[in-house]
Amino acid sequence: MKEIVILGAGYAGLRALHVLQKSSADIHITLVDRNDYHYEATSLHEVAAGTQPDEKICYKIKDVINSNKTVFVQDTVEKIDADKKEVYLENQKLNYDYLIVGLGFQSESFGIPGVKENALEMVDVKTADQVHKHIVEQMKKYKETKDEEYLRIVVCGAGFTGIELVGAFVEGSKKFADIAGVKPEDIQIYCVEAVDKILPMFSDKLGQYCLKYLKKWDVKLLTGKPIKKVEPGAVIYQNSKDNENDLVALKAKTIVWTTGVSGSKVIGDSGFEERRGRVMVKPNLTDPNHDDVYLLGDVSAVMDPSSNRPYPTTAQIALTMGSYAAKDILNQLKGQPSDPFSFKSLGSVASIGNTHAFGVVGKTEVTAYPASFIKKAIMDRSLFETGGVKEVLAKGRFDFYH
Ligand code: NAD
Repeated sequence: MKEIVILGAGYAGLRALHVLQKSSADIHITLVDRNDYHYEATSLHEVAAGTQPDEKICYKIKDVINSNKTVFVQDTVEKIDADKKEVYLENQKLNYDYLIVGLGFQSESFGIPGVKENALEMVDVKTADQVHKHIVEQMKKYKETKDEEYLRIVVCGAGFTGIELVGAFVEGSKKFADIAGVKPEDIQIYCVEAVDKILPMFSDKLGQYCLKYLKKWDVKLLTGKPIKKVEPGAVIYQNSKDNENDLVALKAKTIVWTTGVSGSKVIGDSGFEERRGRVMVKPNLTDPNHDDVYLLGDVSAVMDPSSNRPYPTTAQIALTMGSYAAKDILNQLKGQPSDPFSFKSLGSVASIGNTHAFGVVGKTEVTAYPASFIKKAIMDRSLFETGGVKEVLAKGRFDFYH
């Protein structure tokens, strides 16, 4: 019997588990995660804004475990010794024949001073929940002090995550305003971005759609303003391109850092050849130096032949990688070769609030309600592909499920 260890119960890990558990191969699986629940990483911004409760984006890992084939270990992965085929957890050591690594992402500060100490992260359910609780606290403090800085929220970085978070904050602003005893328009939402053009992967038309709504909602989007430092209660950005000394302090009691991510720190700690926690994998998604180690999702870099850059890390590609790695292992056990991994994105859609979204599906640009509908359908699909029908019925995004 072959032992397959899966590290991480995110999109890639749970998708691989789903495919492996369905097979009749002579395998035993050990799934490791530090939490006893899976969470929908694509919905963290909604928890941070309080527009979804955290239980709506989580489900118990035990719900998807087939105990005849799989054992679940709740523990923290510290290091992988791929030469010895060993995984060191905080409380025990595991051995494997095949290893699937889907340990996800962490926030990237790019060494900018003060980020870790003075800005909030949004990397998992706990940190997203902390963002929400923090804002609620600041609203209460406004009520006592009438100091406007308590009403000011700054999102650092206008990538997909930053924009979705801003949209969710706009949606949450009515609740925040009620707590503070002000009007929703009194909640000041800023987004500070280093480059001039936001979301460069989309056409100008889609970019304009997004900008139109941000403007309508009175979001203060500052572009071309790289953040140089975060101090307690202030974001320090460079105001003019050619003058490094032209620094402006934007004061706010809530500062959320969303300027990009890197793969899990375990990858660097384990000595893999990596860049920002991502390993340039072989065509079957294995480590170039270890045929039995699959690196998936945020810890993996696969070149997109059409752009000559690694594919962006999305839930969609993580799910596809999870299926592929499981099937590749099953093929190897049967002595059959697999075709190399290939990925055709179904498109990407960013939500701005619960009912607005924009993006590209296939080759078609979508905006407004149809885009929002598609975004919810994509979310339900990932729920289905990791959790199955039960989770979609319990946590799905369309009200007609209830
Ligand atoms: P990102 O790297 O895509 O965007 C980060 C943004 O922060 C960039 O616009 C960058 O210019 C800006 N930035 C970097 N340093 C800065 C600084 N010092 N000051 C100001 N701005 C700065 O990161 P992300 O948004 O966290 O997304 C990570 C990955 O997850 C991406 O691949 C993204 O496509 C994916 N994602 C997809 C979706 C979706 O499909 N709906 C949603 C969220 C994230």
